Amino acid sequence: MTVQRQATFEKLQQGVQDVLIIGGGITGVGIALDAATRGLSVGLVEMQDFAAGTSSRSTKLVHGGLRYLKQFEIKEVAELGKERAIVYENGPHVTTPVWMLLPFHKGGTFGKFSTSVGLRTYDYLAGVKKSERRYMLSKDETVQKEPLVKTDGLQGGGVYVEYRTDDARLTIEVAKAAVANGAVLSNYTKAVEFLYNKKKKIVGIVAEDVLTGNRFEIHARKVINAAGPWVDDVRAIEGKQKGKHLILSKGVHIVFDESKFPLKQAVYFDTPDKRMVFAIPRNGKTYVGTTDTFYKGDQREMDIEQADRDYIMNAIHYMFPSVNVTDADIESSWAGVRPLIHEDGKNPSEISRHDEVWESKAGLITIAGGKLTGYRKMAEGVLNDVAEKLKAEHKIKAGNCMTKQLKISGGDIGGSENLEAFVQQQAKKAAAFGLTFEEGQYLAHHYGSNVTTVFNYANVAQNVLPKMVYAQLMYGIEHEMVVHPVDFFVRRTGNMFFNIDSVKAHKEAVLNVMAMVLSWSDLQKAQYAMELEKEIHRATTAK
Ligand SMILES: Cc1cc2nc3c(=O)[nH]c(=O)nc-3n(C[C@H](O)[C@H](O)[C@H](O)COP(=O)(O)OP(=O)(O)OC[C@H]3O[C@@H](n4cnc5c(N)ncnc54)[C@H](O)[C@@H]3O)c2cc1C
Repeated sequence: MTVQRQATFEKLQQGVQDVLIIGGGITGVGIALDAATRGLSVGLVEMQDFAAGTSSRSTKLVHGGLRYLKQFEIKEVAELGKERAIVYENGPHVTTPVWMLLPFHKGGTFGKFSTSVGLRTYDYLAGVKKSERRYMLSKDETVQKEPLVKTDGLQGGGVYVEYRTDDARLTIEVAKAAVANGAVLSNYTKAVEFLYNKKKKIVGIVAEDVLTGNRFEIHARKVINAAGPWVDDVRAIEGKQKGKHLILSKGVHIVFDESKFPLKQAVYFDTPDKRMVFAIPRNGKTYVGTTDTFYKGDQREMDIEQADRDYIMNAIHYMFPSVNVTDADIESSWAGVRPLIHEDGKNPSEISRHDEVWESKAGLITIAGGKLTGYRKMAEGVLNDVAEKLKAEHKIKAGNCMTKQLKISGGDIGGSENLEAFVQQQAKKAAAFGLTFEEGQYLAHHYGSNVTTVFNYANVAQNVLPKMVYAQLMYGIEHEMVVHPVDFFVRRTGNMFFNIDSVKAHKEAVLNVMAMVLSWSDLQKAQYAMELEKEIHRATTAK
C-alpha cells in the first residue's frame, strides 16, 4: 500500500464526516466538491477507480440533449444547456466547443423547418452566446461541410455547437479540486455495510480496502449514495427496497482511425430505425455511438456484442455510404450503462434522463439518473437539502454553493478565451524539459494549469519510457491516485480508446515502472498485467 493510501484511510476514520459519499463517478465527485467548498468535512469511497463506472463510458459530450426537445423535456434542455457553458468555463482544458452538423433527409427525423426551429429553440433555452448560435446550410453547403454524408434525399443541414469532453478526465479534475478543498477521496474502497445508531438511523459505513480486504469504519452525519448503475445494490445493503428502482440501458461506441473513416466534421445523424447517433472526429480518430438497449448483466464485465457493432456499422453505412469500414477496421470500443429511473412501458430511448433524489427511512440519500453535463447543478441541489438537514439536526452551518465560478483542477488558465494562448506559451517551455513542442501542446491541453508539474516529471524520466509517457504516468501515480495500469491507460490518458497503439507499445514498461514505484510483488504484477490484457481484449474484440 502506498503511504498516500494509508494516510487517506486514517483521515477518513478521524472523527465524524459531515458528508460521506459512496461512488466516485462524476455525480459523487461533484457532490464532494460542492460540499467541501461549503466548508463541510467530506469523505468519498469508490470501489473501483474514479470514473470506472458510467463516467468514462459516455458519448463524451457536455450537452443540452437536443433530442430531448423531441420529447418536450424543455426544462431539462434549458438547464443542461446553460450548464454546458459553466462546465466549459470552469475547465476549458477538458471541454472543447465543436460545431455539430445535423443533416436532414427526405423522410428523416428532422426536416428543414423542424431543424431550424429546433436548433433555434435549443440556442434560446440554453442561452447560447451569439457567436455559437445555429446556422442553416443548403444541400450543397452540407456536402461541402462533410462530403461523406449521404446525398440521396439530402435536403440541407443545421449546424450548432456542442461541447466535446473527456468524461473520465472531467471526473478526475473535479475529484482533484475536491481534494484541494479538503475532501478525502479514496478509490478501490468499497462501502460494504452501514452503521446505525440506536434510532436505526445510518451514521456511517463499513468500508473495505479492495486491494487488501481490510475493513474499517467511517462515521458520518449524512451518507449519500451516488453509485450510478449500482445505486440499487447500495440500497440493498439496507435490506430489500420497495418503490423506485433503476433500469439499466447499455450504450456502445466504436472507434476508427481517420484513415479508415476520414470524417472532418462532427455529425449527429439518423439511424435506419429512427434513432439518432453521433460520429465525432477526435485526435486523428473517429468515434461513433451510441446504442440504447436494456441491460441486465454485470455492469463491470460488460462486453461489446456483435449485435452492438452491427447496429453502429449499419448506421454508418446508412448515412456515410462511401465509407467502407468493416469490423476489422474497428480499433477500439467501449460500453457503458445509463442508470435510468424505471418508467413502466417505455423503451430505453424514451425514458427521461432526469435525476432524482430520495431518502430512505434510515436516512440514506440516493441520487440517480441525470447526465454528466448536469453534475454541478445536481450536486448543488443535493447539498442545498443536506445543508438544511445538517443545520436542523446537528446545528452545523454550511456555506452557500460556490461551484458556479469555481475552476476545477487544471482550469486556472485565465478563462476559456485564453486557452490557445496558454497552450502555445506552455508548449514553448516544453523543450527545456526534453519534450517536443507538440508534446508540450498535448500536455497543456490535457492537464491545463497543472502542466508544469507534469513537465517536471519529464526532467527525471528514465529511459524505459518516452519522456512524455513517463511524466504522465508519474503524475498519475503521485497526483491522480493511479493504482492499476488500467487506471492510467483508460481513465487518466484515454489511450485505451483513442490511442490503442500507444497502449500496446508501452504496456510492459508501464507495468515495470509501476511495479517498482508501488513495490508490487511478482504476483501482484502478474495480476495487474492480466487485468490490463483483459481490458485491451474487451476494447478491441467483440463477443
Ligand atoms: C452510452 C452513454 C452515453 C452517455 N453520453 C452522455 C453524454 O454525452 N453527455 C452526458 O452529459 N451524459 C452522458 N451519459 C450519462 C452520463 O455518463 C452519466 O449520467 C454519468 O456518467 C453518471 O455518473 P455517476 O457518477 O452517477 O455514475 P458512475 O460514473 O457509474 O459512478 C458510480 C460509481 O459508484 C461506484 N460504486 C458503486 N457501488 C459502490 C460501493 N458499494 N462502494 C463504493 N463505490 C461504489 C462505482 O464503482 C462507480 O464508479 C451517457 C451515458 C451512457 C451510458
